[in-house]
Amino acid sequence: MNVATETARQPMARTTPDFDAIVIGAGVSGLYQLYRLRELGMTVRVFEAGSGVGGTWYWNRYPGARFDSESWTYGYSFSKELLDEWDWEEHFASQPETERYLNHVADRFDLRRDIQFDTVVTSAHYQEDGRLWKVTLGDGTQQTARLLVTAVGVLSAPTLPRIPGVESFKGQSCHTHNWPKEPVSFAGKRVAVIGTGATGIQTITEVAKTAARLTVFQRTAQWSAPLHNSRVTPEEMRNIRENYADIFARCQETVGCFIHATDPRSVFEVSEAEREAFWEKLYGEPGFGIWMGNFRDVLMDREANKLMSDYLARKIRERVKDPATAEKLVPKNHGFGMRRVPLESGYFEVYNQPNVKLVDLNETPIERIGPDGIETSDAKYEFDMIIYATGFDAITGAFDRIDIRGTGGLSLKDKWRDGPTTFLGILVDGFPNFMMVMGPHAGLGNFPRAVEYTSDWVTGLIRHANEHGKTRIDATPDAAKAWTDHVLATNDGLLFTEVDSWMTGINRNVEGKHVRKVMRYSGGHPAFRQRCDTVAAAGYRELSLT
Ligand code: NAP
Repeated sequence: MNVATETARQPMARTTPDFDAIVIGAGVSGLYQLYRLRELGMTVRVFEAGSGVGGTWYWNRYPGARFDSESWTYGYSFSKELLDEWDWEEHFASQPETERYLNHVADRFDLRRDIQFDTVVTSAHYQEDGRLWKVTLGDGTQQTARLLVTAVGVLSAPTLPRIPGVESFKGQSCHTHNWPKEPVSFAGKRVAVIGTGATGIQTITEVAKTAARLTVFQRTAQWSAPLHNSRVTPEEMRNIRENYADIFARCQETVGCFIHATDPRSVFEVSEAEREAFWEKLYGEPGFGIWMGNFRDVLMDREANKLMSDYLARKIRERVKDPATAEKLVPKNHGFGMRRVPLESGYFEVYNQPNVKLVDLNETPIERIGPDGIETSDAKYEFDMIIYATGFDAITGAFDRIDIRGTGGLSLKDKWRDGPTTFLGILVDGFPNFMMVMGPHAGLGNFPRAVEYTSDWVTGLIRHANEHGKTRIDATPDAAKAWTDHVLATNDGLLFTEVDSWMTGINRNVEGKHVRKVMRYSGGHPAFRQRCDTVAAAGYRELSLT
């Protein structure tokens, strides 16, 4: 029985909605959520702002965009047929390969017929009378659904820098998230990149290969380590395929759902030589091992973290020939791993090239952008192109851009003004029939692994509601408070909470995002799943189901 059918028997539910469920977003989460809700026999409509599927992997076509997680740990795990038929080309797939993969998934499971592309959701208001969500689209039309599931992504609201004159530049300019589909040539051009996060580092490495002149404007240096990407050989692919069950099982055991598990040893338990040898090994291996598979105290203990940071600083100084430039590239205001570690493929060597210049904005801040280029406190630079790798209004930003209102017209943005409050990062009390796949208070990490679990949990809850004739699903204020307090406790004392980054809710280009907040669950995915499983096993008694 689906929710719409059941609705007819409910005295409270007088209106028949257009759909049983509306899903916002057709990225990794939205595609999978659609697939699962269809299995319940529900009518579903997905609204997607892009012209194609893929979310992050649809939009971020900037040069050099690729995974930092192993491709074969990132794909969906739910379908053996899908695993059997898809061959990954690279251990860390590029954006085009990932976009191809997600298109393949959409085609294979015939998902497109329920997706309306080029459609922005501008508002979503809960109607208590009728127990449904009224969703308004960019063209002013409205659709209703019993349930609203957000699959809007964590990093999908790009932000330009708040620099005077940013609109006045006459050359080409683009935020990396909004990169055009047509090829962009840098040959013979004077190019600026503002921003040196994971995106900036990938972009800079690629643009430096062909630009006549590349000027990088860096505000915060990053602890970046080598990616060591390579092609997947047929033999490796066979081996991966045979071992998918083990691979996914291993991902489920780690705190971030990555294939790399924390080393149980402390930095201080081993000799200096052993420590150095272990770090050399991690530095020479592909992927996030250096971040997620390091000694257990590297991300927790200030002194251990300093030793690791010193090791990486030595690496940067070895790789960058000009000592003054190397010094600028060594982070001074945060330790290794306190921000999301960007993985690089020759990034530091870029600064040994004669066509590349690094401008440290701490020494010479940007004062304005003009029609011809960028003016800092000590120089004027002329450019043909400015690339903004300036990041996102992360985690809550995509929610803030939609006027979401729950019972009594309460706006979600207002409710979260002092920081998000949720139940399990999935429900928000006062916002009935509203579910978030990878909303605030979710654990971050290897995204699809967490998405599959969360979407399955959401689907289980909806199935339960359908089977028990419940048309209104809400979190209780007490349960939301208890979960939010628990999320705060899991972050308490962690070193990363002392650092400004998108993971602590900071984006100085956005009004009101200047104070660090707890945005994510830091208890690890295994504990998260255990808690969610307990709620389900107890018949969702912690929720208000009516
Ligand atoms: P980000 O990490 O937030 O970096 C934004 C950069 O722009 C920072 O260097 C920031 O400087 C700079 N910036 C922002 N406003 C500025 C201003 N007004 N003036 C000068 N500089 C300014 O964003 P991102 O690089 O797009 O990465 C976001 C996340 O996306 C990553 O952490 C990662 O999780 C994900 N990502 C993943 C991959 C992958 O899987 N391979 C690739 C790319 C991104 P400050 O640091 O000083 O604020």
